[in-house]
Amino acid sequence: DGGGNVKVVVRVRGFLPREIERGAECLIQMNPLNQATTLLVPNDTDPANKQSKMRRTLEEKTFTFDNSFWSYDEKDEHYAHQEDVYNSLGEEFLDHNFEGYHTCIFAYGQTGSGKSYTMMGTPEHRGLIPRTCEDLFQRIADAQNDTPNISYNVRVSYFEVYNEHVRDLLVPVASNQPPYYLKIRESPTEGPYIKDLTDAPVRNLAEIMKYMRIGDASRTTASTKMNDTSSRSHAVFTIMLKQIHHDMDTDESTERVARIRLVDLAGSERAKATEATGARLREGSNINKSLTTLGRVIAALADPKHSRPGKRNKDVVPYRDSILTWLLKDSLGGNSKTAMIACIAPSDYDETLSTLRYADQAKRIRTRAVVNQDHIS
Ligand code: ADP
Ligand code: MG
Repeated sequence: DGGGNVKVVVRVRGFLPREIERGAECLIQMNPLNQATTLLVPNDTDPANKQSKMRRTLEEKTFTFDNSFWSYDEKDEHYAHQEDVYNSLGEEFLDHNFEGYHTCIFAYGQTGSGKSYTMMGTPEHRGLIPRTCEDLFQRIADAQNDTPNISYNVRVSYFEVYNEHVRDLLVPVASNQPPYYLKIRESPTEGPYIKDLTDAPVRNLAEIMKYMRIGDASRTTASTKMNDTSSRSHAVFTIMLKQIHHDMDTDESTERVARIRLVDLAGSERAKATEATGARLREGSNINKSLTTLGRVIAALADPKHSRPGKRNKDVVPYRDSILTWLLKDSLGGNSKTAMIACIAPSDYDETLSTLRYADQAKRIRTRAVVNQDHIS
């Protein structure tokens, strides 16, 4: 039951003021009947796409996904609000967590495509992370009334990977000090983990929201200091949910543990920058290592040879080549139910095609989630 493909959805946002100013046209169509997303060939009105048209012949492309979220035009009857995205993806994943499965949802896409809006959102339009937190504590409150023999334990951590360094977002950044980086260790049973990462117990929604805001503020502080960090860093918000079930008849306790990972990746245009040579490399050659490695990991996992029995192909997945893929190993190809949200801008042919192809490849990845349950007495 836990074996399944990575769930892949796509979401397109509406125009930003700068796109309206440059005369951008919407190149995306979505068919609500079969969840197909079509990328159209641009006309010549938009200077941004004219460049790619001069270089080569562009084609119309159609891809189908598990879901296509149309968040382009709020007046449209098919418009996908934050609530719709939560209801069709977040809720299902939280169901899995209460069943005892680890899950991971990550947002992929170029800078400005709506990753942070989708994962975190704004105070008025809350994204997947605050909605998951709210639903989690609502379910715990309901269960505590209905099933008093189950007790709950929730912990939260929040870190970012920037330039192949891990930074704890729950530790305040001292204004006059360089950021403090954490080390990664590998345990034979638990796999890779971050040494000394803050892992805060939370008892209610207010507490977890407080940590969410501290982490977000910490990410923003650093990004204004270090010039655009947030488009280059990967932010990983993790909730650990433990359910302890006490059987009154046998006096035995069982424990179910689920890890909920919500990941806001660096802008995907950064992956290409590493492939470029010369000027770009001055930025430091490992800036985009995690993102390019993620691409190679996804390509290796999506390769049909990978899952063919009897092949030793599993060795070639290059998880350990970057910090992000090493830490997310389980979420990408192991014990986890995983989803990818491909975020796209409405009017950017090249970047959107590259994101849709990436997403299309991710559909072929299979993970093997198991219920994480143990007798504890
Ligand atoms: P990213 O994190 O991918 O760089 P953001 O989430 O910051 O992109 O989105 C860029 C801008 O577009 C922000 O101003 C954000 O509020 C807006 N935006 C993104 N997606 C949507 C959406 N679905 N509806 C309304 N505004 C959006
Ligand atoms: Mg962002």
